[in-house]
Amino acid sequence: MNRFKSWLPSLFISYPEPHPDPPVSVNWFPNRRCNYECAFCFHTTKNTFILPIDKAKLALRLLSEAGMKKLNISGGEPFLNPKHIGEIFKFCKEELKLEATSVVCNGSKVTEKWLNEYGQYLDVMAISCDSFNSDTNEKQGRRENGKGDNHIGKVQDVAALCKRHGIRVKINSVITINNWQEDMNDHISEIDPFRWKVFQVLLLDGENTGAETGSLRDARNLIITTEQFQSFLERHKSQPSLVAEDNEAMKDSYLNLDEEMRYEGWKKPGRSILDVGVAEALRDSGFDYKTFIDRGGIYDWGRTAQPPIVDW
Ligand code: SF4
Repeated sequence: MNRFKSWLPSLFISYPEPHPDPPVSVNWFPNRRCNYECAFCFHTTKNTFILPIDKAKLALRLLSEAGMKKLNISGGEPFLNPKHIGEIFKFCKEELKLEATSVVCNGSKVTEKWLNEYGQYLDVMAISCDSFNSDTNEKQGRRENGKGDNHIGKVQDVAALCKRHGIRVKINSVITINNWQEDMNDHISEIDPFRWKVFQVLLLDGENTGAETGSLRDARNLIITTEQFQSFLERHKSQPSLVAEDNEAMKDSYLNLDEEMRYEGWKKPGRSILDVGVAEALRDSGFDYKTFIDRGGIYDWGRTAQPPIVDW
């Protein structure tokens, strides 16, 4: 009778298989607004939606129950919503007990007041900086709209401020036709980030490939060859913190969640985890756990250097 019971339901009901890959490290884009105009941006201000904080917390709780250990917030510029992200980081640390929190920002809106209030809940501050030459930043669009260029000064100030607050500093650089020949060694050594992420500029239809694809940006004239990217890496190979990401490594190796908590399967949004739960929504993601591991997605990501967490 027991055997009969155990196979009978499977004749009529097809249960979804649990998704095999846990969402260990999640990258969330809570809001697309930004005060910069980077020509290569692939998460542009196509809408200004932001999830109410109680719904955001519910989704994060579901992710935590499904295995999330690390949350990164990207943008848009996250610090255009300082209280919102501050309260999210506080929730992640105090309630969800996440191992690590991080944010990717352009540095322009980070304040000491915010760090005094919320810095204790943030492990890693990633600051975007493609060049230490103002003209190059101007060409990249890496500057605050209409306010002149103090981007380099801001990056250096925020890096120093974060270190004083015990927050680890990461630098993210996008390599394009404008900066692939630059030598950034001295400035990077001075900032001394624990991780310097160097990306090859990426084209994405609907975001940065011109009006024909419904994009708000056009980065087609910024692309570089693999050889040009490699020559940039070769020039900076003595930097111990450098981690390179070419186009192949970037695709499908991030678990990206958009402003509505939908996984972006490179990069079409699927169903929201608030509607269908984490395991179902993950099926829409296009996420490749192996590529995530191969690109070093699991590393010593807390406030203090710890043995890398690799046994998953
Ligand atoms: S700083 Fe630049 S790349 Fe980042 S969200 Fe703003 S416009 Fe896009």
